[in-house]
Amino acid sequence: MAQVVLENVYKSFPPRRGESTPSGKKTDAEPAGTVNVLRRINLTIPDGEFMVLVGPSGCGKSTLLRLIAGLEVMTGGNIWVGDRLVNDLPPKDRDIAMVFQNYALYPHMTVYDNIAFGLRRRSQAEEPRQTQDSQLPTWAENLLVGATRKLPKGLRYVSDREREVDQQVRAVAQLLQIETLLHRLPKQLSGGQRQRVALGRAIARNPQVFLMDEPLSNLDAKLRAETRAQIVKLQRQLGTTTIYVTHDQTEAMTMGDRIAIMNQGQIQQVASPLELYNHPANRFVAEFIGTPPMNFIPVEFHAPLLITHSQFRLTLPDIWATALQKYDGQTLILGIRPEHLIVSVPATKNLPVQVDLVENLGNDSFITVALTETDSQFAHAAKSLQVRVPPDRLVTVGEQLWLSLTAEKIHFFDPD
Ligand code: ADP
Repeated sequence: MAQVVLENVYKSFPPRRGESTPSGKKTDAEPAGTVNVLRRINLTIPDGEFMVLVGPSGCGKSTLLRLIAGLEVMTGGNIWVGDRLVNDLPPKDRDIAMVFQNYALYPHMTVYDNIAFGLRRRSQAEEPRQTQDSQLPTWAENLLVGATRKLPKGLRYVSDREREVDQQVRAVAQLLQIETLLHRLPKQLSGGQRQRVALGRAIARNPQVFLMDEPLSNLDAKLRAETRAQIVKLQRQLGTTTIYVTHDQTEAMTMGDRIAIMNQGQIQQVASPLELYNHPANRFVAEFIGTPPMNFIPVEFHAPLLITHSQFRLTLPDIWATALQKYDGQTLILGIRPEHLIVSVPATKNLPVQVDLVENLGNDSFITVALTETDSQFAHAAKSLQVRVPPDRLVTVGEQLWLSLTAEKIHFFDPD
């Protein structure tokens, strides 16, 4: 097990053919068309942590994971695994196991051989590691207590190493409950079973770090939720430092000890799921985390009042007075989550809205509303708001409502 440290990690891709400057002149500056995919990433993942990298498609998550794995070469920066600087080490020497979205199993090998493959190869290719390999990891030892360590009568292992491989494969199979599938080929497995085998292959190698790149995205919703829970449980059991890439904020929120939110090659915030939800560092994070997303309303601040238009006047609690001092007389963006807008009574401190859409999910109900003062610049800017209402509160399309804002749940952001 090991901590992983990323220091000023930088990655740019050269221009693709046909994308460089038409003159073709060489300069010291970056050639036109250079794609800066990651810009100065600094991140420490402590030993044993489950860290999720999340962000929209194309923000650089997979590239960062591939740099850690050694599958891609950094443009600049340092990567440590434990106390080893791994910048120049090939993937096989980094003591890392990666699980991919498409499982990457060998189609012509049985489940048993897929899991055993990395173990056998390691014992052949890496002599210096043999002393370390000759011991089963503690979790595997524990699993094997009480289980038979002997082959059926008449059979013998060809070597001590093969016996160890066999024990390790069976221990992993037991851990993942795929013992009955060991003789099958990948094509004879369901998507969920293949993913378990891919996990098994990574676990069997007993690496210092797991890297997982969207491992659940090929599974259907129910299986995804189940496998999500299994992976978290396994990771706790094994205690192996894990870096998990996803674009799905639900996965991030439910799996990560901490989450690093990325956008356009930069980390926006690193925090626990609840910290991100309750204290987003900026508007990008506020919008990315939460379903439906946070609402944003442009407001004018005239201490201690917030104004959106002629009818709405909200007196802010004292706590905001100093925080917002520099915005007095200016426009800023108010952020509020759907569950913190409450259907209330007509009053100047409440927002008048008209219901556009009602979505009842049974246990929850969401409505989409529009600010009713259409002559106001603010009403145009905040085109629609989403509000969570109790499912037994009947709301109809076209109805006029007044929304109160839970003052202590308001966030403020700089205007764009
Ligand atoms: P994510 O995993 O967040 O979806 P990626 O790391 O796959 O994002 O990609 C980040 C950006 O890097 C994208 O804009 C992608 O087009 C670009 N990119 C990835 N690989 C290459 C490459 N080999 N050459 C040029 N651009 C690349």
